[in-house]
Amino acid sequence: MKTFEKSSKLDNVLYDVRGPVVDEAARMEEDGMEILKLNIGNPYPFGFSAPQEVILDMLSNIRTSQGYSDSKGIFSARKAIMQYAQLRGIPGVTMNDIYTGNGVSELINLCMQALLDNGDEILIPAPDYPLWTATATLAGGNVVHYICDEQSEWYPDIDDIRSKITDKTKAIVIINPNNPTGAVYPKEILEQIVQIAREHELIIFSDEIYDRLIMDGYKHTSIASLAPDVFCVTFSGLSKSHMIAGFRIGWMILSGAKNKAKGYIEGINMLSSMRLCSNVPAQSIVQTALGGYQSVNEYIQPGGRVYEQRDFIYKALNDIPGISAVKPKAAFYIFPKIDTEKFNIYNDEQFALDFLHEKQVLLVPGKGFNWNSPDHFRVVYLPNVRQLEKAMGKMREFLSTYKQR
Ligand code: PLP
Repeated sequence: MKTFEKSSKLDNVLYDVRGPVVDEAARMEEDGMEILKLNIGNPYPFGFSAPQEVILDMLSNIRTSQGYSDSKGIFSARKAIMQYAQLRGIPGVTMNDIYTGNGVSELINLCMQALLDNGDEILIPAPDYPLWTATATLAGGNVVHYICDEQSEWYPDIDDIRSKITDKTKAIVIINPNNPTGAVYPKEILEQIVQIAREHELIIFSDEIYDRLIMDGYKHTSIASLAPDVFCVTFSGLSKSHMIAGFRIGWMILSGAKNKAKGYIEGINMLSSMRLCSNVPAQSIVQTALGGYQSVNEYIQPGGRVYEQRDFIYKALNDIPGISAVKPKAAFYIFPKIDTEKFNIYNDEQFALDFLHEKQVLLVPGKGFNWNSPDHFRVVYLPNVRQLEKAMGKMREFLSTYKQR
C-alpha cells in the first residue's frame, strides 16, 4: 500500500507547545474529563478582551476590507507602526521598512525562509519560543542555542554567545521580553549583544511581542534603537498587547544597516508578495489599537489581573517543596525549576504526562522550549487566581508522593 509521509524537511523540526502532552489532553477531554489548561498564551478564553474601540473599528472597516492590500500592508497600519518605531527610538524607519503579517508567526517563518541556506548557523536562545527553532530548522539552518542564565534573571549569557559564533553564523535571535521566562533585558546586556553583532557582522532578530506587558516599572528597550549600524528586524503585534491573538495581526520593522541587506530584503519582498498580503480587516484596526486606549496597562498594574496572577503564581510555586522560580517581569509565563533528584525526574515530558493523567492539569515541559535538561516546565498564568490556586494545590499534592518510574 502506498502511504503518504510528511516531508523529510520536517524530520528535525520540533514544535511541542502543541505537541504530545497537548494531544493527550485533547484525548482526555474527548473522554469527558475537564482539563485545566496552563499551556497556551491565548488571553481571550481566559476573560481578557480588546478595548471596545478596537472591536468597533474592525466592525466598521469590514465592508471596505474585502480586497487584497499592498503586500506589505495598508497605509494607515504601516504609518501607525512607523510612528510606533519612532517612539521606541528605532532609527531611520520608513513606510517601506514595515511589513504586516498574519501574526508575528508568519513573518518569523518568512524571515527564516528568505535568509537561511542549508548549513547556515543562527543563534537562538535556550529556552526559546520554539517557533524560532522550528522555522530556522525548516528553512535549512543549523540552530545553535545559546543559554539564558537562570542565576542572572534569565539574561542571555554573553560568554556563551561569543563562544558559539563561527564563520557560518548569520544571525542572532533575542526574545525580549521573553517567553517562557518573563525576563526583560537591561540596556547593558543589549549593548553587549549589539557589540557582538557588530564585530561579527550578524543580523539581529528581536521578537518584542510582549513589549507592552511589562510590570514593576521595568523599562523595555528595543535593541534596534541601540544598533543604528547593524541590520535589525524587530517583531511585534497586537496578539498580546490587545488580547486579539485570533485576529492574526503582527508586523516587522527593518532598520540599521539596510544597505548591507539589499539581497536579503529582495528575498523578503519576494516571499511577502507570494503570500499576497496579511488579513486586511485585522490591518484596518492597527492605527486605532496603537493610537487609542491601552487597556493592557490596567492588567499589568498592581490590582490588575496579569499582575495579581503573576504575584500569586510566583509565590505559590516557590512555596512548593522542590520547586523554585525566578519572578517574571513581563508577559504571562513563568518557567520554574523542579528538583530532578528529589522526584527522580529524568524525562520532563513524562513528568507533564504523569501530572496530566493524575490531576488533569496541562503544562508544557521545558523540552518544548528547547531546554535540554528535564528540570523545567512552563506555566501560563492567564487563568484567574481561583483556577491557579486549584492548579497549584494539585501540584503540591501530586509532588508530595511523586517519583518518576
Ligand atoms: N513570539 C513569541 C515570543 C510568542 O510568545 C508568540 C505567541 O505566543 C508569538 C511570537 C506569535 O505571535 P503571533 O500571534 O503574533 O503570531
